Amino acid sequence: MLIGVPKEIKNHEYRIGLTPAAVREYVENGHDVIVENNGGAAIGFTNDQYLEAGAKIIDTPEEIFAQADMIVKVKEPQPNECKMLREGQILYTFLHLAPDPTQTELLGKSGCTAIAYETVTDTRNGLPLLAPMSEVAGRMSIQAGAHYLEKVHGGSGTLLGGVPGVAPGKVLIIGGGVVGTNAAKMAIGLGAEVTILDRSLPRLRELDDIFAGRVQTVYSTVDAIDKYSREADLVVGAVLIPGAAAPKLLTRDNIKNMKPGSVLVDVAIDQGGCFETAKATTHQDPVYIVDDVVHYCVANMPGGVARTSTIALNNATLPYGIALANKGLKAMLENDHLLRGLNMHKGKITYKAVHDDLGEKL
Ligand code: NAD
Repeated sequence: MLIGVPKEIKNHEYRIGLTPAAVREYVENGHDVIVENNGGAAIGFTNDQYLEAGAKIIDTPEEIFAQADMIVKVKEPQPNECKMLREGQILYTFLHLAPDPTQTELLGKSGCTAIAYETVTDTRNGLPLLAPMSEVAGRMSIQAGAHYLEKVHGGSGTLLGGVPGVAPGKVLIIGGGVVGTNAAKMAIGLGAEVTILDRSLPRLRELDDIFAGRVQTVYSTVDAIDKYSREADLVVGAVLIPGAAAPKLLTRDNIKNMKPGSVLVDVAIDQGGCFETAKATTHQDPVYIVDDVVHYCVANMPGGVARTSTIALNNATLPYGIALANKGLKAMLENDHLLRGLNMHKGKITYKAVHDDLGEKL
């Protein structure tokens, strides 16, 4: 199969669909790969590295879309990319179609077969192609929080780890899934005092085992959120109710009762945010202040560490991508989890949640 890797064109998107190492894997499996000129240059993947891995460098996205049997990307195709896709071509990337009728309509018109990273599943009912981005965002949340706790960045001037003779800062993590666990690891590493709230008792048990007494686990109630947010220096919002908007767990009143200069990082902002005062921000302008509390609500946190995120994403997408390249669409008939990634085929929406949200509107 001929695999095409165009340069990402979304504003400030520096990730790329395939790393040079992933290209080598496709080539070892007998496939040809074409990569757009300087497609990975911004994150240190040079044309020479792609050539060495066995790819061909192509000057324009038009040539890549015209020639490739499968397009591998990171972000959802932009309108001019959708117009270059065609029937019989596979698109393998993040799509997030449900809130995006324009993209859905354009992909429908193209007739391509679109497989969305975010709906591929695994045997534990997880989302294996989404998980690496949650790992990245969870780890970054503490890094961002520590930065904005510095006085010059609007914070209270608190060092999360403290020093000998000075108590550490307090980190409250609401939601103990992939984001929350990774946030906890980083916060513990810095020496902070960490509390995780979750409303799943089995998950709290697992966290208690994983962290062996290094974190406090508390069942998530209105009362617990009120109590622990008053004391916190940094609150990380990390809840997810699959398929639904995030519940507003930290209310405006809770935020009024927080210490001045404390920091909120709402990682769940891509699902609407779990803090009442949260609104999406960007890497260019990441924070704003409400009631003396610094709000960091960047909707695409992994984009900020595009090199690490690209490698982490490739680790997860590679086996499914190779299966698609080796077997074509039949790969989905042999693997139900990959089949769940199928969102569009020959102009039809093939994923129920997308159809439920958009079927009537198109
Ligand atoms: P996850 O499913 O692994 O974990 C979510 C956790 O929230 C679960 O343990 C669940 O029990 C818990 N939860 C649900 N309702 C709760 C409540 N009322 N109180 C306390 N806990 C509750 O999900 P995840 O992968 O950790 O993702 C968390 C959020 O981060 C999602 O909204 C995801 O889309 C988002 N995310 C954002 C970025 C970004 O760049 N901003 C990147 C990656 C992920």
